[in-house]
Amino acid sequence: MRIAFLGPPGAGKGTQVELVSREYGVSVLSTGDAFRAMMKGEDKLAQKVRSYVEKGELVPDGVVFEIVREFVDNKDSFILDGYPRNLRQAELLDDFLEVKGLALTGVVNILLDEDEIVKRLTGRLVCPQCGRVYNIYYSPPHKDEVCDDCGVPLERRIDDEDDVIRQRIKVYHREMKPVVDFYQRKGLLFNVDGTGDIHEVFERIKKVLDGK
Ligand code: AMP
Repeated sequence: MRIAFLGPPGAGKGTQVELVSREYGVSVLSTGDAFRAMMKGEDKLAQKVRSYVEKGELVPDGVVFEIVREFVDNKDSFILDGYPRNLRQAELLDDFLEVKGLALTGVVNILLDEDEIVKRLTGRLVCPQCGRVYNIYYSPPHKDEVCDDCGVPLERRIDDEDDVIRQRIKVYHREMKPVVDFYQRKGLLFNVDGTGDIHEVFERIKKVLDGK
């Protein structure tokens, strides 16, 4: 199974990828998580990455592909979460995997409309200690903005502010249309409805992935 997951920010991609990874025992690279980890550093690369992520802009393709290449190299099973984000990234990956004889076996595209995205993301809170994700509308913590498990105050991601969200959605749609077309032409694209609760969406994804 060599799968990429596509979907606008807030479509539940990260959550679904985690469930899929556990169900099928396949390792995941989330480029967003990789950048958030990198941004904790103070070196030049950390500063460079931060300057893009904070504005909701894409990190340059060369920087991203280095991370992806290292991860997928010689793996016969993997899941990519958050990559590719534009046509150039899709082509770079495709060329690299083709040479290895390890082309993608499917691309899951989670669909969700803009109003729902904004609601999900503005409500998102993350525990800085354990990483648990809450949502003030759908899955609030028991006590106001404090982690149920760790008791520490929850935080918003720096790129979950309203104007940054709108910028991320705009960038997503501008960049992803050609990517979706690219995989559609290759017969690899599977659209999945992202509405409903986590388990409903997961069942839809499993139907697509069984046999991939
Ligand atoms: P995410 O957690 O996937 O929403 O990613 C958070 C941020 O990391 C994005 O808004 C981008 O700034 C950056 N990022 C993640 N993946 C990529 C990628 N494949 N290409 C460029 N930038 C990325």
